[in-house]
Amino acid sequence: MKTIKSILTIAVTASFMLSSCNSEEEQLPKDETQTLSKNDLTFNFKTAKSIQGKGINKTLVVAEDINTKLKDYGIAQIEIYNQAHNLADKDVLTVIPIIDASNEYRTGFRFIPNDPRREGRDNLTYVVVSEFATSPSGIPSEQIFDDMYDVWENASVCNNVAIDKQAFSLATDGFPSTILNLGDGVSSPVADHNVIGYIPAFIFDLIGASSTNTLAVNFSFGFRDENGNFTDINGDGKIDLSHTETWFNDNVNWSADGLAPGSVDIASVALHEFGHSLGLGHSGVLIASVNENGQPDGDFLQFSPVNVMNPSYIGNPKRDLAGDDNSIYCEQFSAWPWY
Ligand SMILES: [Zn+2]
Repeated sequence: MKTIKSILTIAVTASFMLSSCNSEEEQLPKDETQTLSKNDLTFNFKTAKSIQGKGINKTLVVAEDINTKLKDYGIAQIEIYNQAHNLADKDVLTVIPIIDASNEYRTGFRFIPNDPRREGRDNLTYVVVSEFATSPSGIPSEQIFDDMYDVWENASVCNNVAIDKQAFSLATDGFPSTILNLGDGVSSPVADHNVIGYIPAFIFDLIGASSTNTLAVNFSFGFRDENGNFTDINGDGKIDLSHTETWFNDNVNWSADGLAPGSVDIASVALHEFGHSLGLGHSGVLIASVNENGQPDGDFLQFSPVNVMNPSYIGNPKRDLAGDDNSIYCEQFSAWPWY
């Protein structure tokens, strides 16, 4: 049995119902969101001297603030993935690097093979909530999610960790979200990775992830000791990962191929989020061209190098692992299952 000592008060208690996922803001007890950051996560491109290189530090401060608060609830990390379709979006471009800035390229925590707290397994498991795996526009996404975990499992040269789909039934296993648990008890995760599916936009707003430009969120939960501190029982310098859960914002113009202008390829975003669930952080630096006054001139906006784990989605599907993706994955798992 996994131990999650506490959950977010944002758990929306009983007002979040499976059968009614639309606007229910009026039912949310407002005081229960007070402990979470109300900071505006929008990175104002115009006010930034430069968004290149360490120019992203401004948003890191905000993200770390949220992370500090979330730690009180047993969450080791939250990552927020957002979009900039094209140059027209540059004024509201949000760049949220992975939370633990000291662990760039990696998330700062890791699954332990044969961890007795995870049933002693040396594989990783995931479940998909089928009932939430169809986009509002009707894109069936469970197979896409399966395919994207397959990419991580098989495409890397360091493919020695099995990432196995686990049989799951919402009716018999319960809702596998630690955060959005529907009852008054503390829910246990069903699998190592819990793909919750498409979640109403207002819930993103509640956690400070602006629903207008946040595509998806991945939460990573760390094991804690009796004093509430995150553990590192194998001494690898990383928090011992308990489980993760991933949400996709249902208010995004999701696409099955990402080709239509302004649409977002669900497969690409799933691949990115699942990378976080496996311990990969962000990579790549956002490069924007500027005019003589140092202001972005709209000619060029891109990450360099281009990786799945770039921290924003900029208009183009990315379904293949690139150099940094592969190398960091290998760093995480090349020695699996020996540490
Ligand atoms: Zn990310």
